[in-house]
Amino acid sequence: SSFVHQLADEHLSEAELLADPAEKIAALGGSRHPSIPLPVDLFGTWKNSGGIDLQERGTLRDTAAAIDITPTTLTVASASAADAKAAIDRAAAAVPEWSATSIEHRAAILERLADSLEHNRIELMALAVKEAFKTIPDALGEVREAADFCRYYAARARADLATVTLPGPTGERNELRMEGRGVWATIAPWNFPLAIFLGQTVAALVTGNTVVAKPAPQTPQIAALAVKLAWEAGVPEDALILVPGGPEVGAAITADPRIAGVAFTGSTPTAKKIARALLEGEDRPIVPLIAETGGINAMIVDSTALPEQVVADVLTSSFRSAGQRCSALRLLLLQEEIADTVIAMLRGAMETLVIGDPGDPATDVGPVIDQPAYDRLMAYRESSKGKWLKTLPVPAQGLFVPPTMLRLDSLEALDREWFGPILHVATWKAGQLEETIARVNAKGFGLTMGLHSRIARSGEIAEARARVGNLYINRSMIGAVVGSQPFGGEGLSGTGPKAGGPHYLQRFCAERSVSVDT
Ligand code: GLU
Repeated sequence: SSFVHQLADEHLSEAELLADPAEKIAALGGSRHPSIPLPVDLFGTWKNSGGIDLQERGTLRDTAAAIDITPTTLTVASASAADAKAAIDRAAAAVPEWSATSIEHRAAILERLADSLEHNRIELMALAVKEAFKTIPDALGEVREAADFCRYYAARARADLATVTLPGPTGERNELRMEGRGVWATIAPWNFPLAIFLGQTVAALVTGNTVVAKPAPQTPQIAALAVKLAWEAGVPEDALILVPGGPEVGAAITADPRIAGVAFTGSTPTAKKIARALLEGEDRPIVPLIAETGGINAMIVDSTALPEQVVADVLTSSFRSAGQRCSALRLLLLQEEIADTVIAMLRGAMETLVIGDPGDPATDVGPVIDQPAYDRLMAYRESSKGKWLKTLPVPAQGLFVPPTMLRLDSLEALDREWFGPILHVATWKAGQLEETIARVNAKGFGLTMGLHSRIARSGEIAEARARVGNLYINRSMIGAVVGSQPFGGEGLSGTGPKAGGPHYLQRFCAERSVSVDT
């Protein structure tokens, strides 16, 4: 397949990539690659502060195709609250020197990092497969998106952060400067353990901030490698400090009054918790929170849509990444007249999904992230049994949630985000497009929305009425491209500004206006 060609480089021959998937994963992630810098030395000081045993997690996640994690006998340590404080001490001490570097210096480091990510893509992809059960296409997408973020923010920093002179009367010089704010905390999700982890982090760095970066507890290793590559590209070790761990570590970071801003991607409740934490303390400065959270994302399809395209876009949007994207389609809204046809076609098309070992390039749908996610999704699916329109068989072992299509009586029946391969279908009546969009808006989320229609006026209505960050017309709803489809939502879906967009970096800055009477 074409992925094989994209993957083949000096590390692995094509023959090796085509070999038995279990063996290949062992090769990708395992002992045949001593060049994988295992994060032990990154965690020297934290090794004894209570670790996440990857072996133990591996048994929870054991898949039928057996992702071989045995070469990884290391324990990735979790930081303690005291470690988090010590990290902030160091990052704070590093602010004066790092913030005094030039925009050009920092932008060039991001570009070097982008090159290095591409050069090390095999190791990074292996870790994405191993830790997050990413499929091979998704793992490749991770590396590409991470490199895109680095290059895009480097370019935007050069274009947008330079000091500008503003008008004033004769004898007065007015300048506006964009400067770092201090120490940023970046808190990343497991579903984009490289792209979002690094995107948030390099945005904070290139704007002159130092960073304490907390990866999701499920995906510390890929973050550790990313940090190591960032150091090698020229980020001083004290300007970027990895603080692995769970919610307690996150709480210790956000409770620290020296944190000058937080960039967070994750759930809506956690975003609210962080927002509250940042306001605690009488003397605490008021600092920005950039939050990107979830959604109840709908696709509205009318009777003029091309059914084949709808079906392909629904499969991609609902089931790729096992539905574990914030952007994923949760709620398909079919105009009554075409509902039976589209549902019948979807039933057939779902059969083509390949479910299995995420390390096999042919796989479309891998396991979900961990046991709690699996249990939650399976319990919901069971409780919805009467509504199943289609569900698929999955390997007997492993955390595979069967891709499932459920019928709803009304679109209001879906009132929370189910972060997995579960698609809900409801219908709407001809002539009620505006009302249907309003009912979706009323859910309070605002991340992605899709419309499939060949009527130009319907597109205009969606553009005018949809209260979402990302509207997709006659295409799939996932895979926003850095620099082309800036990504992020509104309402319960987050604060903005949008990642990969032209207004993102400014939020990381302090704007300082200087006026001099000359
Ligand atoms: N940017 C991703 C996409 O467009 C989603 C990011 C997320 O899930 O947080 O699919």
